[in-house]
Amino acid sequence: MPPGMAPPAAVPGPLPTSLRCNSCGAPLNPASGMALIVCDYCGAVTTMGTAGAQVFQKHFMLDSRIANEQALDVGGKWLNKGLFRRKVAERSDLGQVVLKYVPYWIIPTQVVADFQGTKGSGAGAVVHGTTRGQKAAGAASLALGILAAASAANRAGPAARGVTVQQAQVIRVRDRIQLSYNIPIVAVRGYTKFQPDDGFQFNIEAKRPFDKRATGGLEVMSGDVAEAEAKGQAAALAQKFAEREAKRRVDTLESIQVYPTTYDGELLHAPVWFMEYAHKGKSMFILIDSHSGQVMDGERPAFSLF
Ligand SMILES: [Zn+2]
Repeated sequence: MPPGMAPPAAVPGPLPTSLRCNSCGAPLNPASGMALIVCDYCGAVTTMGTAGAQVFQKHFMLDSRIANEQALDVGGKWLNKGLFRRKVAERSDLGQVVLKYVPYWIIPTQVVADFQGTKGSGAGAVVHGTTRGQKAAGAASLALGILAAASAANRAGPAARGVTVQQAQVIRVRDRIQLSYNIPIVAVRGYTKFQPDDGFQFNIEAKRPFDKRATGGLEVMSGDVAEAEAKGQAAALAQKFAEREAKRRVDTLESIQVYPTTYDGELLHAPVWFMEYAHKGKSMFILIDSHSGQVMDGERPAFSLF
């Protein structure tokens, strides 16, 4: 912290050009429109709201635990996952690989969805999940009639199963889904590739108060997405998750009403590996949580036979 910095006075009105960190007094350099400015000296986050500049208190971080080689290993395995993708990693050209602290709003979100549809319209749809887990999940949501049919099919053994199911009638399903998530919303506008949209969640039980000294000298990004906007995005994602879950439980989804509720969130600086690669000339990326070592999101070829 620079010496001799006095705490700033309350700042009314438009963004001042000589803004100082409310925590340590160091000068801040907000680019225009920045909603979350990370102090270069102490790491405190100053938010720009209608009330002026304030230090945001609910500011946490996750430790980075994955080294470069591990990240590449995780990314390579993810690329090769699947029957037709075995050699994708070997046949891809690695591009830029960057680890930095990216700010995410963690928005607690609950969603209730009432849906109606039909099950069993296609032959074999009832018991032919791709995994046992999917079969179980499918069965759990079925109406009693089809449950009985499925269990009769199971008792009859594998050979008879297909026949029994083809004779099953179309069953109406009317059900309610209730889900809750801590949805991460990337707080940097334009960082769409850093936004997981498949249900990834950070291990926020392992969070700690943000401490610049614990970032290991990695870049700590500021943000420009305010919490209210993040809540809107979280609600939209929750709606998508509920619809996906409903489609999993029926063969034909006829109607669905989704009611998402978002709660006040907190700001998490998460260490994220961003890995670019090119496969057959097409540029793609993989996003890895450097705390858990999990792939957060990414792009990979639908299949690759060569
Ligand atoms: Zn500061």
